[in-house]
Amino acid sequence: MQPAPQDFGRVLSSMCTEPHPDAREAAERFLADNPGDPTTYPAVADLEREAVELLGEITGLDDPRGYVASGGTEANLQAVRAARNLSDSPDPNVVAPESAHFSFQKAADVLDVELRLAPTDGDRRVDVAEVRRLADEDTAVVVGVAGTTEYGRVDPIPALGDVASDVDALLHVDAAWGGFVLPFTDHEWNFAHAPVDTLAIDPHKMGRAPIPAGGFLARDEAVLDALAVETPYLESASQPTLTGTRSGAGVAGARAAIDAQWPEAYRENYERGQANAEWVADALASRGYDVVEPVLPLVAADVPRGEIEALQSAGWRVSPTAAGELRVVCMPHVTREMLESLVADLDAL
Ligand code: PLP
Repeated sequence: MQPAPQDFGRVLSSMCTEPHPDAREAAERFLADNPGDPTTYPAVADLEREAVELLGEITGLDDPRGYVASGGTEANLQAVRAARNLSDSPDPNVVAPESAHFSFQKAADVLDVELRLAPTDGDRRVDVAEVRRLADEDTAVVVGVAGTTEYGRVDPIPALGDVASDVDALLHVDAAWGGFVLPFTDHEWNFAHAPVDTLAIDPHKMGRAPIPAGGFLARDEAVLDALAVETPYLESASQPTLTGTRSGAGVAGARAAIDAQWPEAYRENYERGQANAEWVADALASRGYDVVEPVLPLVAADVPRGEIEALQSAGWRVSPTAAGELRVVCMPHVTREMLESLVADLDAL
């Protein structure tokens, strides 16, 4: 018997979701196309240009540069790599919030740059005074997160931009998860709100594209030039991407997902997800758990480890934060009925 893919009916802590039907179909059609070789595969290269244009619309950037990456890890690594390559420092460092995704640790390790982590404040956003204290003339890039992995917080991006410009560093925003919901909120997070140089926004998270589909965007061509290597055996002259052969399914799926949903269906996803997050936050708070209020569709609550394990045994795909809280990510597949059933299971424990 063929193994079945994961059913999403009880998946609550994942940042991935069911692809949009149009995205699924487009991905299947372009399974064998390689966007890494645009002269041999021009159709998928066109789709990638369209995807980047659409990502520019979502993130407030006219004439965006960038590509569809394998995910947020690659986009973050490429941001650090570009900043390192553009820096004059013999010993460059990256200043990021302690809430930043662990991909920055991988980037620092691979690229041999120092990673300085700034603590967060009482609302779990990075403390800008601490970022200022850590940043110096060797800082190649200051990182802000727009939609943190564990608590869905949005760092003060314009203030981080001021710090970056004071030390002559680039500003990178990791909106890998938040990028498809933030346009419908009042947060300041994108190229139009601050002098952001590079940004990660993943269609394979809230964008409902199939995996792998991340997004790496840059304001200036110089950033992509700093990443480019010559590609002698291909017709194209150079390549800024990290991987060579890339997923045509990811590119076509990302473009189809965004084309089908931006902006109205994404707005509906956000509104439904946010309402679900607020509902589950209230339900848990009224049962006496300490709840981290959702500013985006993501809730954390101090459900004891034993109860989280009991939920896992009942088939719920939930995982705790580093601090041990239950984390519920209200992705597009998460319905109110699922959350009611989760709360009923907690009540029964
Ligand atoms: N950045 C943020 C904010 C994330 O939440 C994640 C993953 O959840 C990543 C980056 C890494 O993305 P990926 O797993 O697609 O490499």
